Amino acid sequence: MLTPKKWKKQLQEEHGTAIVMLALAMTVVLGSVALVADVGVNFFTQAHLSVAADAAALAGGTKLKEGTDRVIQTAVEVAVKNGIDADKVSVLVDGSGDGVTVTTKAPLQLFFATIFGSEGGEMAQSARVVMARPVGMYKMFPVGIDENQTFEFGQNYKLFAKKGTTDEIDLGAGNSGALEFTENASGAAEFEYYLREGYDELISLGDILYPKSGVKYSAIKSGIAARLNDAQALGHNCSPTTCPPDCPRILYIPVYHAYWENSKVVEVEVVDFAAFWIDATQLGNGEWKIDKEINGVFIRITKGGYISEVGESPYGITSGKLVQ
Ligand SMILES: [Zn+2]
Repeated sequence: MLTPKKWKKQLQEEHGTAIVMLALAMTVVLGSVALVADVGVNFFTQAHLSVAADAAALAGGTKLKEGTDRVIQTAVEVAVKNGIDADKVSVLVDGSGDGVTVTTKAPLQLFFATIFGSEGGEMAQSARVVMARPVGMYKMFPVGIDENQTFEFGQNYKLFAKKGTTDEIDLGAGNSGALEFTENASGAAEFEYYLREGYDELISLGDILYPKSGVKYSAIKSGIAARLNDAQALGHNCSPTTCPPDCPRILYIPVYHAYWENSKVVEVEVVDFAAFWIDATQLGNGEWKIDKEINGVFIRITKGGYISEVGESPYGITSGKLVQ
């Protein structure tokens, strides 16, 4: 039988064991908490690095046509805006100039784990963007050009032209380039909507479109005026080189292969896309001076928001495609 004295000793011994057990358990628990906390922090850092690398590579990718320095400058700017230190960004432009790889880095966060003696390191995420061309676009303008028609970027031309003077796009007699997106489709109102807003559905390479006859100049005029007013309302400086890609003043037009029958175009097949910036003078009363044709210049532009494939189009619309 235990005497009160022995009881006390026994209890003290058990108490001592419990403290040791508790200390051991606490170490394991704290270690696990530290590990979980560090894994959590680093998981977020890793995701952050990845988002920043993607954004930087995509931004840099829009400048591939402007040379290596511009690509690097833009990519670093965007990475920094996304919270990465400038000295933790590396930008590698392909020798061919057709692609860019951005790597973002951050130290491995071992805030808790260092207590338990772990060594620090570095995390990195890479993103690669290559030059791409559109194979399907939305907001197509319902006037196109023939693939046999050549043009120079930045030079003045007239779209929707019926006669072959020097600056008119010559599409052949009786072909104005005006198009229907579906066979036997729209009335005048629908066509006027497309002039203002573009076609809502996706137009892809290989799609068949139909020539539209009987287009009134008044429709062209009101459509173009609406675009000019919308662009003005956006308040940016509208010029062929400074307009953002979604400016209503930029017409995205199909480049087509025409199928002729009895000296008439019966249907056309979309073979590429081009961007045409509308040139117009504003009169004193705020109205736009719009001729019977659509005046403007073909521009090179980098734009997203369409279906693309790796490659480059001679018609000047490019985008960067994230490939890794
Ligand atoms: Zn503009």
